[in-house]
Amino acid sequence: MQTKPLHEINLPLKIVIGRRVVDLTGEYCKHLFSGNKMLVLTGPHVYGIAGKKVIESLEDAGLLTHYVLVKGSTLRDVEAVREVIREVKPSALIAVGGGKVIDVAKYSSFLEGLPFVSVPTSASHDGIASPVASIKDEKRRGSFFTRPPALVIADVAIISNAPQRLIASGCGDVIAKLTAVRDARLARLIKGEYVGDYALSLALLSARMVLSKAELIAKRSEEGIRTLIEALISCGVAMAIAGSSRPCSGSEHLFSHALDIIAPTPALHGEQVGVGTIMMSYLHGIKWLKVRNFLKKVGAPTNAKELGIDDHYIVKALTIAHKIRRRYTILGESGLTWRAAEELARTTEVIS
Ligand SMILES: [Zn+2]
Repeated sequence: MQTKPLHEINLPLKIVIGRRVVDLTGEYCKHLFSGNKMLVLTGPHVYGIAGKKVIESLEDAGLLTHYVLVKGSTLRDVEAVREVIREVKPSALIAVGGGKVIDVAKYSSFLEGLPFVSVPTSASHDGIASPVASIKDEKRRGSFFTRPPALVIADVAIISNAPQRLIASGCGDVIAKLTAVRDARLARLIKGEYVGDYALSLALLSARMVLSKAELIAKRSEEGIRTLIEALISCGVAMAIAGSSRPCSGSEHLFSHALDIIAPTPALHGEQVGVGTIMMSYLHGIKWLKVRNFLKKVGAPTNAKELGIDDHYIVKALTIAHKIRRRYTILGESGLTWRAAEELARTTEVIS
């Protein structure tokens, strides 16, 4: 196995989880960052849910606050935010919202050398505390390895009130670590790729934690939602330790990225990844029924119909997944044939 001569790890400075913690954003920012100017990025919908509260909290703490509404997560959105950063010259960038807002803040703050704060309004993916930003250019979505947020403020009250579909999607993104970690181990064995055991164990631990709390998550109990949030944050930390998304993204993610490209109406990231995990578990020879039962329990899709995607695209995505990025997985270098893909999807009852 290869090792890196120098391995630098950037981690969040502080992670705050609790009810109504958004109201403390101002105090935390005041103590963590020098300077008194903050720039808030939020979305048109989440402004009323959490954006406004964060801005009030910053102003109450005596911080001068500007805000920008972000609609998409394209390179153009990133460039627009970079221009505002250069104009306003804030001490930190604060992202209040779901995936898109956090992705844009993560990448633009990284390029401008600014610390960033993540205030997620849902628990639908592991980008909450990860160093990886998913940004779209004209054609497709790309992943950029940046830096994790300096501060994470996860308000359990706000996240619990997000639509059930988003919580179920978050569960799909965490359970994916069962196959992602196996893919990483395979790449280490077959390709000699460097990947540290600590990061892999941490990612796997997150999946096991949510598996053990499936009922509580399904009931949306405080304990269940906290477990999901902590699992998603731990996955982000695992990526920060690994120095790549490797511990958290394997063949099940390649399948989801393929669907994003070819399906006319893709489902949510975690939903697609969850269904991918069922099929990749089968290929890895691990208990795919356990994965399916978990997803069913938390109300996540387990087949093409529930994803709202035609069977044809599921099979097609399986056959092209290995070409999406240079990452060795159980799909190998030549991928699945149409027949093998169809059989896999049928055996795991993803298609009928
Ligand atoms: Zn993911």
